[in-house]
Amino acid sequence: MNVLVINTGSSSLKYQLFDMDNQAVLAGGVVERIGESQGVLTHKKFSQGKEIKTKETLVIQNHGEAMLLVAGLITQKIDAIGHRVVQGGEDFKEATRINEDVKNAIQANNPLAPLHNPPNLIGIQLAEDLFPGKPQVAVFDTNFHQTIPEKAYLYALPYEYYTDYKIRKYGFHGTSHKYIANKTAELMGKEPEEVNLITLHLGNGCSICAIKKGKCQDTSMGMTPLAGVMMGTRTGDLDPAIFGYLMDNTGMGQREIDQVLNKKSGLKGICGLNDLRDIHEQAARGDKLAGLAVEMFAYQIKKFIGAYAAVLGHVDGLVFTAGVGENDEIVRAKALADMSVFGIEIDQDKNEARSSAPHTIHGANSRIQVWVVPTNEELQIATETCQVLENPN
Ligand code: ADP
Repeated sequence: MNVLVINTGSSSLKYQLFDMDNQAVLAGGVVERIGESQGVLTHKKFSQGKEIKTKETLVIQNHGEAMLLVAGLITQKIDAIGHRVVQGGEDFKEATRINEDVKNAIQANNPLAPLHNPPNLIGIQLAEDLFPGKPQVAVFDTNFHQTIPEKAYLYALPYEYYTDYKIRKYGFHGTSHKYIANKTAELMGKEPEEVNLITLHLGNGCSICAIKKGKCQDTSMGMTPLAGVMMGTRTGDLDPAIFGYLMDNTGMGQREIDQVLNKKSGLKGICGLNDLRDIHEQAARGDKLAGLAVEMFAYQIKKFIGAYAAVLGHVDGLVFTAGVGENDEIVRAKALADMSVFGIEIDQDKNEARSSAPHTIHGANSRIQVWVVPTNEELQIATETCQVLENPN
């Protein structure tokens, strides 16, 4: 079965076509800067082990034009389409075949993800128009976190805010956490139900998960992706009273503060940079704030590992993934330093060795295995799309 995976953002459209029978990627790419004065289309085609890449700049007025371009570039047959959808609320506990009710439910969750769900819905509608009759499946970022127990997903606000306004922890990056948890269990020679893992998705956005026997127990992001560890440009957890204090004392309004918390904080807020490659360079030149940003980031990651070790009771493995998790040995080493009391010891040489394949970085005496596993959210979406279509209930 060939599955086209579509991830529609506010100004971008990412796509990948999988041949699931042979576990191969046939084509993929991204349309960026949709609606801007100059758009960019990058397309990759894979044939007999070779990658052929083309890049074009052209005006792409809207998502409809972007989808038409993609459909024109894909020459292979498409049997089904899997869509990434960010927010499924409590309505979707697993990947779901799309029909009118499902689209209405996604729309009803728009207020919880106003920047993400509307473009995701546009992608679904356009794919239905362009590929009529092809089955479509929605895979939600929030699916994997629906097993989090009430005591962990509720905020200590008046209870009716949960029932009336749906305020609770939903978590994000669920497709990535699920992929690396399953992959790591497989690499350990176990079933997902046989291991307890702490998974760390550290990219521009960061989230950490406590997973007990394949089921998510807690995650660091919250009702929105602003919560948890500090990130490239987002604050992570903050004393909630700071918001009102800023309003009262700076003259900034709600929207402006929101921008600061999402776009001007995190690593960037502390040292002016958000890419850790640049931050390490700057720190090596003696920039104190760059060094401080790395220390703060690693410290916050360490605190979540400790907290989630307590939540799980017994931990078999830690798994690092995404841009920072897969590539940044300095952050990994600092976050895991002095944790032998938890049974975590890393091997510096293994940690510093570069590899794009999954590998371990723990030392011989470490009770807990520490893995670096590249994530593949698109493959996970394609896999779940097949599962939904093969086992309709
Ligand atoms: P997202 O998908 O959340 O935008 P990614 O998972 O692609 O982010 O991660 C991007 C981040 O990964 C960059 O901002 C940078 O901080 C970090 N990164 C990427 N490559 C490296 C590297 N070689 N060393 C250190 N950090 C890296």
